[in-house]
Amino acid sequence: MLSIDDALARVLSAARPKPDEPASLADAAGRVLAEDVASDVDSPPHDKSLVDGYAVRSADFRVRPNSDPPAPVELAVVEEVTAGMVPTVQVTAGRATRIMTGAPIPAGADIVVMVEETHWHAEPGVPGGVVRVELSKGNPQPGHNIMPRASSIRRGQVVLRAGTLLRSAEIGLLAEVGRRQVRVAGRPRVAVLPTGNELVDASIVPAPGQIRNSNGPMLLAAAAGHGAIAIDLGVARDDREQLRIKISEGLRADVLLLCGGVSAGVLDLVPETLQSLGVREQFHKVAIKPGKPLWFGTYEGPAGQTLVFGLPGNPASVVLCFELFVMPALDRIAGREPRLVPLQNAQLADAYDHRGPRTTYHPARLRNEGQTAIVETVAWHGSGDLRALGEANAWAVFPPGDRHYAVGEIVSCRLMVS
Ligand code: AMP
Ligand code: MG
Repeated sequence: MLSIDDALARVLSAARPKPDEPASLADAAGRVLAEDVASDVDSPPHDKSLVDGYAVRSADFRVRPNSDPPAPVELAVVEEVTAGMVPTVQVTAGRATRIMTGAPIPAGADIVVMVEETHWHAEPGVPGGVVRVELSKGNPQPGHNIMPRASSIRRGQVVLRAGTLLRSAEIGLLAEVGRRQVRVAGRPRVAVLPTGNELVDASIVPAPGQIRNSNGPMLLAAAAGHGAIAIDLGVARDDREQLRIKISEGLRADVLLLCGGVSAGVLDLVPETLQSLGVREQFHKVAIKPGKPLWFGTYEGPAGQTLVFGLPGNPASVVLCFELFVMPALDRIAGREPRLVPLQNAQLADAYDHRGPRTTYHPARLRNEGQTAIVETVAWHGSGDLRALGEANAWAVFPPGDRHYAVGEIVSCRLMVS
């Protein structure tokens, strides 16, 4: 049986990035930039004050050598400049401009003294007041509390390169450099098709023999949560004709997620139907628990390529296979490196007996106790038990082989992310 790593390698080698497209800033968040972006302005656009205070000449302090801090100085206030204004009065010897954070530095001034280091000598009246400056530290050097023009960005400078993931900071940066629209990698379209005669909608009380379709809403949520456009194809019954019709519809998407019907049951018709429609099998079955029956294939259609995942029917298998195999494929299609899911070593809080030749992912709760990560496996009835996943925030990973794990042993854990 195929190892997890080999299966993932096959998925990733089949996944191709989508062509890029324009997107507004609101729509670009979480996507990958497909162009280099240069700034149309200097930032800051002027020498700007980093504090609220007084723009003054450092020379007015340096004339008093050997005093540390310098002796207090009284300065005539000539103007008040708040952010958004442009100063009009030059600061000359013995004068100061009252200035607010972000405002442009007036000509003549080369430092800003924080308001906390000043007192009004006479009651306000700006301009025309007198301010007494008492510095608490040594002589300020020119440039003190000033962010020079273009020190962050020069006009024409490339600030973001193609391939960058657009997080909120990058969205802000795009706005700063004058972009409302950028080219980004396309968003994967993911069609979801649960299969099974037993499935009924969540709104229905199941009759004997029936169960509710939990995988459908779960996969739609997982795909959308991972930045894809999720397409609900409804449910297909275990019927060749119905499967053919619904699968054909799904093959117009970039990814088709089927679930159920891929094991060895008499009505497990998904693999043969896929093959009859020209989907080429890349693998069937992976050495993983839960999730062994996973089927994966590729389809080259008139509208481009479709990656087809025949996920097992059991809900816990669906969650795990989505996290391990579908998510990296979605990243690749969306033009980004498959994102790293943190693995963490943790101390087992309870003993665990592992059996069998497959790697087991057991739902678990990971927590920190002081500096120590502790993992506790959740009581779980296997791949059909979705409730246990509701209690879990991680998977405890047990490698193949029969082995007893004692309390306190170190095991590897993977955060649950879908
Ligand atoms: P199958 O591989 O089709 O035999 O499905 C395996 C198990 O998963 C069966 O117990 C199914 O009833 C269950 N199952 C299949 N599809 C779904 C679904 N959409 N939601 C919840 N359980 C499902
Ligand atoms: Mg079935």
